[in-house]
Amino acid sequence: MWNFIASLFSTDLGIDLGTANTLVYVKGKGIVASEPSVVAIKKDSRGGKKVLAVGLEAKEMLGRTPGNIVAVRPLREGVIADFEAAEEMIRYFIQKVHKRNTLVRPRVVISIPSGITQVEKRAVKESAEAAGAREIYLVEQPLAAAIGAGLPITEPVGNMVVEIGGGTTEVAVISLSGIVVKNSIRVGGDKMDEAIVQYLRRKYNLFVGERTAEEVKIRLGNACPEEGPEEVMEVKGRDLITGIPRVYEISSFEVREAISEPLNQIVQVVKETLEKTPPQLASDLVDRGIVLSGGGALLKNLDLLLSRSIDLPVTLVDEPLHTVVKGVGRLLDDFRLLREVASD
Ligand code: ADP
Ligand code: MG
Repeated sequence: MWNFIASLFSTDLGIDLGTANTLVYVKGKGIVASEPSVVAIKKDSRGGKKVLAVGLEAKEMLGRTPGNIVAVRPLREGVIADFEAAEEMIRYFIQKVHKRNTLVRPRVVISIPSGITQVEKRAVKESAEAAGAREIYLVEQPLAAAIGAGLPITEPVGNMVVEIGGGTTEVAVISLSGIVVKNSIRVGGDKMDEAIVQYLRRKYNLFVGERTAEEVKIRLGNACPEEGPEEVMEVKGRDLITGIPRVYEISSFEVREAISEPLNQIVQVVKETLEKTPPQLASDLVDRGIVLSGGGALLKNLDLLLSRSIDLPVTLVDEPLHTVVKGVGRLLDDFRLLREVASD
């Protein structure tokens, strides 16, 4: 009875705990927060730690911090790289949307990368509990993405999703509310950024930060640059030999060359997953194709590259950055489905 009354006043939340971005969905309201998964921590001389900022504010500090402040990404490659920071981040997001009725404990659904271990899952649950959650359900990211993309995952047909985030690419074939085959690699948008940094260093002796590399990827990145006119932009960095700031003009073809390895790895993991898919489900995919989501899927023509490589229809979802959190949000309204897809 008390639980019933509590549920009337409580704010049930869905959280997409991503390696690059964390999004929060409130039942009945929609997406209420979307911020980088970054925590800025200050260390004192005795080794104590204090959280200075989380989210947007902390991302601004990345790469710009004095020695005693570190900006960390708690989920760096789809695993929890820093437990304490992860806990702080979860607490921040829950409290951010839940500040008014702290007395009423919410039900929280959290989407997690499918590569995380049992120990890491427990850590996520405990952090959410410490932040005041009443019931906590964890859902693997590809399932949440498939639900968010509106795929009929409860039916006996093969549904395939490829979710490309910052730190990971997760591929899954889903049927009857369960994952039949899955694969996860630690390659996503971050690896493309790093590849651009390396490329500019090798080719021009130009040193740029990861945030500049990300801008280059977003503006010029193109998985099939031959499909359109060549594009160029100016990139500023530091000359590694003279130490002096320099500007170079970079083209979309160069960026394609720079990111070819992570792109190949993404194509490869999709192929491997298809090879492991039972024939009955594989034949469903011939007609239904596969669905692409996650921020990394926004790379221009990535859908085209994939469909050419595997010779199946590939559909990029609307708003790929929101697919997972929308899926988690839908689960807040469908408790039966939530119980079917939640992982233990
Ligand atoms: P995660 O789920 O791991 O938090 P997201 O789904 O939020 O990741 O995606 C973040 C990644 O998407 C980053 O690597 C970012 O650079 C990349 N990204 C965002 N927009 C674009 C774009 N327009 N083109 C290419 N990559 C993009
Ligand atoms: Mg995500």
